[in-house]
Amino acid sequence: MLNSLPSSQATRPKFGQKYSALRLVMDALTQNRNLQPQWRSPTPKARYDAIIVGGGGHGLATAYYLAKNHGMTNIAVLEKSWLGGGNVGRNTTIIRSNYLLPGNIPFYEMAMQLWEKLEQDFNYNAMVSQRGIINLYHSDAQRDAYARRGNAMRMHGVDAELLDQAGVRRHLPFLNFDDARFPIQGGLRQPRAGTVRHDAVAWGYARGADQRGVDLIQNCEVTGIKTDANGVVGVETTRGFIAAKKIGLACAGRSSQVAAMAGLRLPIESHALQAFVSEGIKPFIDTVVTFGAGHFYISQSDKGGLVFGGDIDGYNSYAQRGNLPTIEDVCEGGMALMPAIGRVRMLRHWGGIMDMSMDGSPIIDKTPINGLYLNAGWCYGGFKATPASGHCFAELMARDQPPAAIAAYRLDRFAQGYVIDEKGMGPFPNLH
Ligand SMILES: Cc1cc2nc3c(=O)[nH]c(=O)nc-3n(C[C@H](O)[C@H](O)[C@H](O)COP(=O)(O)OP(=O)(O)OC[C@H]3O[C@@H](n4cnc5c(N)ncnc54)[C@H](O)[C@@H]3O)c2cc1C
Repeated sequence: MLNSLPSSQATRPKFGQKYSALRLVMDALTQNRNLQPQWRSPTPKARYDAIIVGGGGHGLATAYYLAKNHGMTNIAVLEKSWLGGGNVGRNTTIIRSNYLLPGNIPFYEMAMQLWEKLEQDFNYNAMVSQRGIINLYHSDAQRDAYARRGNAMRMHGVDAELLDQAGVRRHLPFLNFDDARFPIQGGLRQPRAGTVRHDAVAWGYARGADQRGVDLIQNCEVTGIKTDANGVVGVETTRGFIAAKKIGLACAGRSSQVAAMAGLRLPIESHALQAFVSEGIKPFIDTVVTFGAGHFYISQSDKGGLVFGGDIDGYNSYAQRGNLPTIEDVCEGGMALMPAIGRVRMLRHWGGIMDMSMDGSPIIDKTPINGLYLNAGWCYGGFKATPASGHCFAELMARDQPPAAIAAYRLDRFAQGYVIDEKGMGPFPNLH
């Protein structure tokens, strides 16, 4: 049963502790005995001004910016499981803005600029590490395509640098240059790209939203979306009905299922994608690298583990785990690129559910149902977008107008023929 206790009356420990170097020293001296929970666990109210469905990176960032930038604090994030237990805590942590098309570059560059200030903004260590990314090319045609992409980036004020083979060797001496099946000719480098500690992004946004009064409700699954002739009226949940005139969906891999609760059929398929981490080894790769002759990407975490991934699994799935043939395929990509990793032991791997859109680009838009907003279609590149996605989705929900950065991410582009075919692969999720 719903308890309509105002969230301010819920058991509320002391919040708002500011993190600083001094605070770190004090906590060390007191053996962390004064650490406080980072957010409340409020009972859901009967009604909110707005509800966000999904407590992943995008949902939490949206709530944070709704409260911070638009003064909307009577809002709730409803998460069926625990905050950050979805893809935001399952990805390979790569951030970059090395896109080709005008619909994408400004949006992803906006995200990059927000990443650069994020830790100061929400006073949380998200380990933003701008260690760069190198996309390798293995043929003249690939080089030309990367030259074009690099030029497009530069024309939008984004950093890009085309490397020849010697240039790649300087950064990555351990790659297989000498007798490779697909010889490395060079690479496109974005120096400002890098990695971010993914869970910390969820926690930082959650803490910041909570401090501004947002109710973060965990273990609260949305099971239905109620509408009347004027639009949405609220959601049915495992903790009862909650009313709201604005509902934002940020459910990533479950987007189609949740949108179907309101009668919407989305141009999205769900697929599993796996990530892998090796045992910790000495520093070996100080940037992010992607293989151009297969699907394989790798970086090294600050703890020393090699973090890598590849293709989505070969069939549609809602399982948060992957299958063995894909593991073999990913590891073959790694061996082709740097045989030196062949003796490293794999420590763990896991899967997440990807909301693959039919052109590989996201959807951030109003839906045909008044008061229902959609943030979906992130494929396997949504982590890097998190700050810009939250920022823009919050603005869309608060003002009912899409900001310029998401103008291309309309839901009706599939019906109207304005798809953003970033990779020129058409409607084939496995190729995005
Ligand atoms: C293995 C892997 C590697 C990846 N690597 C990268 C990368 O390197 N760089 C990059 O940019 N992106 C990467 N991604 C993609 C990225 O992680 C996702 O695109 C992004 O995290 C999706 O947005 P989110 O964080 O909001 O999703 P999520 O964290 O999945 O949030 C959605 C939330 O909605 C909740 N939910 C669903 N249904 C309901 C319901 N009915 N009621 C209430 N709550 C519900 C879920 O429990 C979940 O917590 C990767 C993904 C995976 C799995």
